[in-house]
Amino acid sequence: MNNSSVTVSPWIAALPKVELHVHLEGSMSVATVEELTRRHGIDPTPVWPDGLPERFSFDGFPDFANQFFYGLSLLRTGDDLATVVEDLAVSLASQNVRYAEVTTTAYTHFLGRGDRVGMSATEYRDALNAGRRRARDHGVEMGWVIDIPRDLEMPDSTVTIDYLESGLTPDGLVALGLGGYEVGFPAGPYADHFARARAVGLHSVPHAGETEGAHSVRSAVEDLGAERIGHGVRCLEDPELVATLVDQQIMMEVCPTSNDLLQVIERIEDHALPAMMAAGLRVCLNTDDPGWFATNLNTELAISSASLGVTESQHLAMQLDAVEASFAEPVVKAAIRSELADVRPTDSRN
Ligand SMILES: [Zn+2]
Repeated sequence: MNNSSVTVSPWIAALPKVELHVHLEGSMSVATVEELTRRHGIDPTPVWPDGLPERFSFDGFPDFANQFFYGLSLLRTGDDLATVVEDLAVSLASQNVRYAEVTTTAYTHFLGRGDRVGMSATEYRDALNAGRRRARDHGVEMGWVIDIPRDLEMPDSTVTIDYLESGLTPDGLVALGLGGYEVGFPAGPYADHFARARAVGLHSVPHAGETEGAHSVRSAVEDLGAERIGHGVRCLEDPELVATLVDQQIMMEVCPTSNDLLQVIERIEDHALPAMMAAGLRVCLNTDDPGWFATNLNTELAISSASLGVTESQHLAMQLDAVEASFAEPVVKAAIRSELADVRPTDSRN
């Protein structure tokens, strides 16, 4: 299903929501990319020969990566980063998303590119703090996940984990993630990084089972102590693993449009979400890279209803479960829980 052809019902639009898997650097809308392109006087034609498109689209992972890295190259200063945080917050607020756990890749901002020097740890931290304060003004609470990009930062690098231990991290930092391209970059060698992160009070939320199979999810659980799994859709290949995930109540952060566009599945109708729900796995819906995938959380919920048969009662239950699986402050969780307690599904048989 094409995103633009799905209708978001008033019930979905009004539902108070939580998003646990959204990348800051993947959230840039065309308007934000345009603004930053202008701000820095950059020529977009090497990536888009006809100029910036009205809507991002791509053909396979290499084309996606090419555009994604163009976007990353626009984030040169703390002001750029704060702009992107606020733009994401405005979008989340318009969808009634109350809390988002936003993943950001410190490593890519610390590196210089070409003749440019990377951001300092304090500039990065101050930008995220400023953006998070502005998000609060829009009615959106944010927590941060900082991830290791497994295809860029090799296990012998300690840039990210040293930073997490440095004390120069943003307010609201809750977890360490493991992102990037999974094939050829196994989780196991990052076990020490995650042990060190847990030692400074951070949770473990690696991506696994997206482009790699069930063994990758098992490694994320056993080697990295994963408390939630980013994607995880391929866990179904191993029933024993599914039993472990159910038993340990590990939340799977499912991102249907991302899986469709990055060709993890052939058609949205083939998505594993209904089978994951039937297997008793904890699941919640997310956007992954809403800017590049031209989606948002409302659209993901609408697609799941239209193409995968998810009911309003199930959406409500998933939001409640996402609140519990989040690492938000108790007061934030309580406020969203109480809002959700007043929501009545219109498709309920009761
Ligand atoms: Zn992701």
